[in-house]
Order: sequence, then structure tokens, then C-alpha cells
Amino acid sequence: MGRLDGKVALISGGAKGQGAVEGRMFVREGAAVVLGDVLDDEGKKVEAEIRASGGKATYVHLNVTREADWRAAVATTVSSYGKLNVLVNNAGILFRSKIEETTEEDWDRIMAVNVKGVFLGTKHAIPAMRQAGGGSIINISSTAGLVGAPGGTAAYTATKGAVRLFTKSTAIQHAKEGIRCNSVHPGPIATDMIKDVIEDKAQWEQRLRRLPMGRVGTPEDIAYGVIYLASDESSFMTGSELVIDGGTTAE
Ligand code: NAD
Repeated sequence: MGRLDGKVALISGGAKGQGAVEGRMFVREGAAVVLGDVLDDEGKKVEAEIRASGGKATYVHLNVTREADWRAAVATTVSSYGKLNVLVNNAGILFRSKIEETTEEDWDRIMAVNVKGVFLGTKHAIPAMRQAGGGSIINISSTAGLVGAPGGTAAYTATKGAVRLFTKSTAIQHAKEGIRCNSVHPGPIATDMIKDVIEDKAQWEQRLRRLPMGRVGTPEDIAYGVIYLASDESSFMTGSELVIDGGTTAE
């Protein structure tokens, strides 16, 4: 028996990185998944790979900043697999820049992807989840949504902090309908998002020294937590924060 048997999940940013790993692991636990992203070639490859192994997966073009794309992604999910039980708002972007050097365009873009994208996904998932008798929304925030950072990530921390509290308000508004909403707060995870830092040997060694476990996390480390939140195992958990960061924010 899989931990997600019979569940239907929509994962944004599912073409690579953590979203793609979550897609593969969700299917192994018995779910059908719809993966949405702007990277169509990569997304279709993940879809083909999952289908080749006998799993149910569909890739859709989904720019999370566009309401029409969300409407279509939710409609495709319901028409392909009959319902929507789980939404993982995983798509996100990061840039590093000092506050004084951050342009208005940079600020608007990261707010649009990381915050508006989560709002729009939530808005369009809720009616489908209500129809399904409940559901679980999982918003991928960051340790940067819990504490500030000295580097050039002020705008990113602002987006991830916003996701943390949007999660709690969503949870309160929809608790009575059986729609749960929790945030996940990963520490540094080895994906393309932080490749530049990992590849800068000197900077990376310094960073590793500041990590209590002395290692970077893997997408699997996060996916196991996301599976827990997607499953009925977490049925009493809503409005909460799941920190998976190797101890980074413990000190
Ligand atoms: P990643 O860059 O490998 O993947 C991000 C995915 O989001 C990509 O597939 C990208 O195409 C997609 N995306 C970007 N803009 C989009 C848009 N407008 N519409 C749809 N999809 C879009 O990085 P990742 O590490 O897998 O990131 C996943 C999530 O985890 C993000 O929300 C990120 O902020 C968060 N996170 C990452 C780390 C880390 O260290 N990697 C740490 C904490 C939190």
C-alpha cells in the first residue's frame, strides 16, 4: 500500500529540482500527478519517464504568475484524473542582489512568481478540493521565510516570509472544509537554484562550516516531508511549519 494511494496531486515547478523528485516519489506512493512548469521539454521528459515506469503523470505548461494557466492546470487535473486532492506550490525563483542594487523589475518578478503564484494556485485549487471533500495544500517556503540572511537575498526572504503567513490564513479560512494548508521550510538543497554557490568552492566550504550537519540537503530529504503533508498521516496538521534544514535555524 502506498502512502498516497488514490490521491491526485498538482505540483508547480515540477519539471526539475525538488518538484520533479516529488512527482516521481508521489507516484511511487500511489498518486497520480500533474506537473506544471514553464520548462516544457524538461517537464515532458519527467512525464514520459513516470509513464514508462507504469505511473500516472501529465505535464502541463503552467506559468504560476498567470491566472489563466492555473485555471487550465486545475481543469486538466480534474478532467484527466477525476479530482484534485493535493497542491504543492513549489515553483520559485531566487536572485542575489543588495537592496540598493535591486531594481523594481527584479522585486516585482520575484514577488509575482514566489507570492502571487502561491496565491493563484491556492485560489484555483480550493474549489476543486471542496468538490473532492477536502485536500492538502503544501507551500514550499524556505528557512529564508523564518529568519533573515546576511547575503543579497532580502527580496527572496520577503517572498518566503509572505508564503509562511499566507499559509496560516489559508489554513484558518478552510479548516472546517477539510482543506489543510502547511508550509515547508527547506535549508540549502542541492538543486540548480543554488548551483552557483555550490560551485564556488571557497564560498561553499565556508557555508558548509555554518551548517550544523555539515552537508547540504537533497530533494528527497524534502520530498519525504511533503509526502507526509500530502497524506492522511498529517490529517490533524494545518497552518503549521515543517522545517527540514539539517539544524540550520536551530542556533
Ligand atoms: P529549481 O530551480 O531546480 O526548480 C524551480 C522550478 O520552478 C524550475 O523547474 C523552474 O522552471 C520552476 N519555475 C520558475 N518560475 C516558474 C514560473 N513562473 N512558473 C512555473 N514554474 C516556474 O529549484 P528547487 O530547489 O527545486 O526549488 C523548489 C522550491 O524550493 C522553490 O520554491 C525554492 O524557493 C524552494 N527552496 C529551495 C532551496 C534550495 O536551496 N534549493 C531552499 C529552500 C527553499
